[in-house]
Amino acid sequence: MSNVKKTPAELTHDSVSNGVRSILPENKNPILRQIARELPVAEIGTKNIQGLIGEMKALLAKEKYGVALAAPQVGEPLRLFIVSGRALARGSRNSPDEPEHDAKETDVPPPPDQVYINPKLVKMSRGKSNKHEGCLSVRHQWGIVPRAEKATVRAYDENGVEFTRGAAGFLAHIFQHELDHLEGVLYTDKAIEMYEEDSDERK
Ligand SMILES: [Zn+2]
Repeated sequence: MSNVKKTPAELTHDSVSNGVRSILPENKNPILRQIARELPVAEIGTKNIQGLIGEMKALLAKEKYGVALAAPQVGEPLRLFIVSGRALARGSRNSPDEPEHDAKETDVPPPPDQVYINPKLVKMSRGKSNKHEGCLSVRHQWGIVPRAEKATVRAYDENGVEFTRGAAGFLAHIFQHELDHLEGVLYTDKAIEMYEEDSDERK
């Protein structure tokens, strides 16, 4: 969290730009309930923001079941989220214009992570279906959430280039979950049913 008053010792530690952030649990992260702020496009190339993006990618890569991560989840109230390229490859059937992935992923490097800065939802289908969802900020729980089948987002990438991406299925659901994070909304607010992770998977 950037707005917490720190002791000098902590400040010294935090001034190291790598590996200081972590994915904070819901009860230790009030930023999760705030509306995140837009990032001036001129700031995208700064060391600060590039460092944040790098850290978020590294944190996401460590999560076996992580598919995406929003900046508020690591305590930064910014309109920025990252979608794991590895998860997209695994999830396959996302947008119709993406090539189909072979079942063997081992010899093909995963597509790069996708960075969305100041994302805007420009289109969403009316048709909804119930999706199984989890969140790295709410560990050991799952829920069923009604989500639109298709969604189109316009955003800036990590180079400050604006793009528009339409998606169906998996990626469309990710868009909706991550956009909610930027509004201070968690999927648990929208779930029509919640359940605990199987006890034998817990540590
Ligand atoms: Zn989440």
